[in-house]
Amino acid sequence: MKSNTIVIGGGIVGLMSAYMLNKKGHSVTVIDKGDISDNTSFGNAGLVSPFEEPPLSRPGIIATTLKLMLKNQSPLLINGISPKIIKWLYLFAKNANEQRLKRTLILFEKYGEISMKHYEDLVKEFDFDFHHDGVAMTYTDKDSFDNDAKECADHPYKEAWDNKKTKEMIPCVNEKVVGSIFLKRNAHLNPALLMQNLVKNLKEKGVKFILNEEIINFEFKDKKVIKALGKVKSFEADNFIISTGSDVSLSRKTGTDLMLTPAKGYSITFKMDENLKPKTAVLFKDQFIGFIPRRDSVRITSKLELGNHDYSYKMSRFESILNTLKPFVVDFEIKEPTYWTGFRPLTPNDIPLFGRDESYSNIFHANGLGWLGITFGPAIGDLVSELIDKDIENKKSDDVLLFSGFYQGC
Ligand SMILES: Cc1cc2nc3c(=O)[nH]c(=O)nc-3n(C[C@H](O)[C@H](O)[C@H](O)COP(=O)(O)OP(=O)(O)OC[C@H]3O[C@@H](n4cnc5c(N)ncnc54)[C@H](O)[C@@H]3O)c2cc1C
Repeated sequence: MKSNTIVIGGGIVGLMSAYMLNKKGHSVTVIDKGDISDNTSFGNAGLVSPFEEPPLSRPGIIATTLKLMLKNQSPLLINGISPKIIKWLYLFAKNANEQRLKRTLILFEKYGEISMKHYEDLVKEFDFDFHHDGVAMTYTDKDSFDNDAKECADHPYKEAWDNKKTKEMIPCVNEKVVGSIFLKRNAHLNPALLMQNLVKNLKEKGVKFILNEEIINFEFKDKKVIKALGKVKSFEADNFIISTGSDVSLSRKTGTDLMLTPAKGYSITFKMDENLKPKTAVLFKDQFIGFIPRRDSVRITSKLELGNHDYSYKMSRFESILNTLKPFVVDFEIKEPTYWTGFRPLTPNDIPLFGRDESYSNIFHANGLGWLGITFGPAIGDLVSELIDKDIENKKSDDVLLFSGFYQGC
């Protein structure tokens, strides 16, 4: 057996890190403060969408958001102003430029290919309702559709659909939908099924799980961590991965204050008539609403509420999502709905935060996947496991230098 590693936090990032380390012959224990049955990695849209889709932080985003705010349709809300959120907003605005966009799209492509390859391999091991058959970006604003559709003419991976083709593929939309741009290389999956079967797969392979144990601090010695201190017990290991999602209080104990904010999102999962169900995963681009078909249900997701970590919600937030969608779809019955909220660990430039801790050499951060944790979880798990397996320093890792916010002013 190689090293003995503790992964703190069993979301998609922690579990994929555990999966990759186990595959490389390391002994792994996952510790979670909950029971890994409903964290953010469960209730999200499940899009694997690294290709041809612009990041959140992009030119024009601020004007677009203000326009939606005036129409009372903005998904964005800021819950409480703190010095950290002001700094986050400043960095977000600073990063939303053309040069950064080009760079981010190239990085998404590079690391998206790694993730997609892992999903193609994983689905041979267990089921997670994986469909590598594209994602439709559906438009209700004619000008933005016409503008974006121009790029599709000779594009190998993008296809412009008019209203007729959109209705054929997404039978629940109405005449007010202008068209869609179909991104052929993206995929979707059922995230809860992925998480449940991944836990099962890891247990079968000998990965240990300690649940309902919150790690609150570390014991340090000679620039290393020797113990993770839980509320109940303490745990020794050679290496520790911190993959605690939007809760960064534990990373702060190492002196590393990750620049990310919790960004609350909502999902409604329900059954709908089969003949109205979308035949592909859909993103209503102008409304920031995901509409995802699943084997026996559909899921609608939206909203981006920055700042606090409050899990409570008002039904009016879900109603607001459905009301925003209503003008663009035919009437359909929402059968057996379940309502959910979770928090994206959102960085100001859509670039994750991963790598070896600068002060304690056996701590590894794996976080900041924002709105793309399902998309890049496998790639980040792979890269972090590589740092441990080959004992690589950050500055010797091209991947950390390229794709981790540690060296990009965030
Ligand atoms: C509405 C919505 C839609 C989304 N849609 C998509 C999508 O379509 N595609 C996509 O790629 N991404 C999507 N995302 C983003 C994605 O869900 C997240 O990026 C991802 O789930 C984050 O995973 P994680 O492993 O970092 O964190 P989490 O899933 O939050 O897991 C962190 C775990 O750490 C545990 N933990 C925290 N602190 C401690 C501690 N001190 N001790 C022990 N355990 C601890 C928590 O209990 C939790 O289980 C969406 C998110 C939302 C909210």
